[in-house]
Amino acid sequence: MKYMKGLKCRECAKTYPLDPIHVCELCFGPLEVDYDYDNIAKVLTKDLITGRAPNMWRYRELLPIDAEPSVGLNSGFTPLIRAYNLGEALGVKELYIKNDAVNFPTLSFKDRVVSVAISRAIEMGFDVIACASTGNLANSVAANSAACGLDSYVFVPYDLEQTKITGTIVYGTNLVGIKGTYDEVNRLCSEIGGKYGWAFVNINIRPFYAEGSKTFGYEIAEQLGWKLPQHVIVPMAGGSLITKIWKAFKEFKALGFVDSAPARIYGAQATGCAPIVTAVKEKSELIRPVKPDTIAKSLAIGNPADGFYSARTIRDSGGWAEDVSDDEIIEAMKLLAETEGIFAETAGGVTVGVTKKLIEQGRIARDESIVISVTGNGLKTQECLAGKISEPPVIEAKLAEFDALVDGGKMKKAAIK
Ligand SMILES: *Cc1c(COP(=O)(O)O)cnc(C)c1O
Ligand SMILES: [Zn+2]
Repeated sequence: MKYMKGLKCRECAKTYPLDPIHVCELCFGPLEVDYDYDNIAKVLTKDLITGRAPNMWRYRELLPIDAEPSVGLNSGFTPLIRAYNLGEALGVKELYIKNDAVNFPTLSFKDRVVSVAISRAIEMGFDVIACASTGNLANSVAANSAACGLDSYVFVPYDLEQTKITGTIVYGTNLVGIKGTYDEVNRLCSEIGGKYGWAFVNINIRPFYAEGSKTFGYEIAEQLGWKLPQHVIVPMAGGSLITKIWKAFKEFKALGFVDSAPARIYGAQATGCAPIVTAVKEKSELIRPVKPDTIAKSLAIGNPADGFYSARTIRDSGGWAEDVSDDEIIEAMKLLAETEGIFAETAGGVTVGVTKKLIEQGRIARDESIVISVTGNGLKTQECLAGKISEPPVIEAKLAEFDALVDGGKMKKAAIK
């Protein structure tokens, strides 16, 4: 049974074959995978899904590959945690965290999109995988290409966090640092892709890649007991993930897997790079590019490819968007760590910080169900805490020294300032 009909322009609906292309030649609109939902509905059931292994491929009929996946057999199905402590701190009744900080193998949600992109690239006959990245995509492309024996090229702004550089090079990829912003890296990669004929996961095969993000949304619905939450807060870089979570919810609804009212979707960015949030707040259709300046480097895309559609998703779903400063990001990372024991990267600080703001503004009701998307791991962005951690006490290995240190509960512990 075939589940994909082809590619289709999101603007003018012109159809295309399932090739490595991403822009409509008529109107320059983005291309999207066009599914045969009738065929999918004949096969896919909740029972079939729950009977499958707990990974992102349990929804495979809704993902854009023809045969068996080549990578990602352990990606996805990350925990959805009922966050009682953080809920109490924020003053809300029913709070959850979808935790892709522990997604396999590279500890961010990017392993979902890369698993789909590489599996599809192999079906299309590519033998080199490449990407333009703000960090997490670099890690994931390098790791997953290595795991299936493919050569890879990874292009990043040269001033990324060292952990993200190390966590890319270790897999034996060809990493190139570019003197410029992500947006300049991306522009260069479009030229390289055309000339060298490589599969750039987030450029020429972007329509396939982007579909992998839907699994984040499917899992939220399934893990809530086949129900949609009332509010979901999502970090935005290029703005793809947020549109795909919305799409996932709509697909589950159309297939009859959930019958809840639609969720409201909220976008989160750092104040130092908030082109989508600004458009939402100004009720504008236009995304004005910005030059990023924030510690949330994984979200630092000044000219977001899916900015227009993410603003529309937020509007259509009845949600809203907010941004938080670098200080608020660190505060929120601390809050999440201290209440739930989850060390998220800066992007997680953005999402938690924005959630707090939206609740305080009264935009999210305190007695309704809320899911916060945590998309990356704090161990990868430790630089943001450099100079902000006080020194832990150091003593000789002698009980007397420890006694003196704790003396009546007066120990000064190390902490993030
Ligand atoms: C890439 C990334 C995002 C956002 O992804 P888009 O689909 O480009 O909006 C969110 N969080 C983290 C940690 C990321 O690496
Ligand atoms: Zn078109």
